[in-house]
Amino acid sequence: MPLLYDNHGRRINYVRLAVTDRCNLRCAYCMPAEGVRFGPRSTLLSYEEVLRLMRLLVGMGIDKIRITGGEPFVRRDIMDLFEGLAGIPGLNTIALTTNGTLTKPRIPALKRLGIRKINLSLDSLDPERFQMITRRDDFYAVWNTLDELVREGFEVRINAVVLRGINEQDLVPFAHLTREYPVGVRFIEEMPFNGSGMEQGELYWNWKRIIDEIQLAFPALEKLPDPPHSTSMNYRIPGHAGSIGVIPAYTRTFCGTCNRLRITPSGLLKTCLYDKGVFNVRDLMRAGATDAEIQTAVQEAIGDRARNGFEAEERALGNRSSRESMTTIGG
Ligand code: SAM
Ligand code: SF4
Repeated sequence: MPLLYDNHGRRINYVRLAVTDRCNLRCAYCMPAEGVRFGPRSTLLSYEEVLRLMRLLVGMGIDKIRITGGEPFVRRDIMDLFEGLAGIPGLNTIALTTNGTLTKPRIPALKRLGIRKINLSLDSLDPERFQMITRRDDFYAVWNTLDELVREGFEVRINAVVLRGINEQDLVPFAHLTREYPVGVRFIEEMPFNGSGMEQGELYWNWKRIIDEIQLAFPALEKLPDPPHSTSMNYRIPGHAGSIGVIPAYTRTFCGTCNRLRITPSGLLKTCLYDKGVFNVRDLMRAGATDAEIQTAVQEAIGDRARNGFEAEERALGNRSSRESMTTIGG
């Protein structure tokens, strides 16, 4: 298997692919209530294009993909894409990030395809707060998905964005949840990608404050070793089945070991969460590029990666703003 390195010596083996910008929720930190301007369906990478791209990337050294969105399960026939991805030799891990509202009926098929690593977004354990954040009344659908995933033995992580004045009272209950549930609850610093154009001031709930708050309730909280390339700093409470993590998405302390590329629903390749996109793979494919030409373009992008999220943001200056929504980036 070939190994792929960027210009800073970081090995790249992971792609996050957002398969749609559409979503059935309207999480306030991700999208305005009216949604964002969704691209026409023809702008989406087709499943054939995704599978071709993934075969080429696997041929270069990628061995892990995470499907994200928007909400992956709102895209028609998404299981067909999963089936195709599961058949790519060398693609060792297929993971999924979902809001959990439409996921439960798909669990048997996911299991059959060997898609066992699921990140479930759940920002509150209180149905009313859940509704306030997501602007939809779907708490129990997500909760039932969580229960079923755990029962079926999936590797589950709960992603919870911590929002000042909105869900901070959920921090300790989530920590309690890890007592019985063998899940990794990961608190994410809020990033200014909510599609509204509002700039975020200094972040109140940064990773340090989140951990301090949990430590106050659980003084025995202990640090776990972090897996290589982990974006989270991980902890556990002795005696609990699950773990707790914090993702410094805003503070950006994880860039030094970043191993990932991102592909947006319309085929823009990003080498950093904070860049404005390097080139459009879909356009290249539709213009008739050969496999070798596509691989060369990817190689060049990886050879010119920003050192970290701050440099990427600086390079993108004037192009990227908080009008961007996470639904087009995929988290
Ligand atoms: N719809 C799926 C879901 O919610 O899991 C997948 C897409 S969603 C954009 C991927 C992840 O990005 C979610 O865990 C979500 O919480 C996170 N996210 C979205 N907007 C964010 C923001 N402004 N700051 C931090 N995380 C954000
Ligand atoms: Fe939809 Fe996920 Fe964004 Fe929430 S975070 S609006 S579920 S894409």
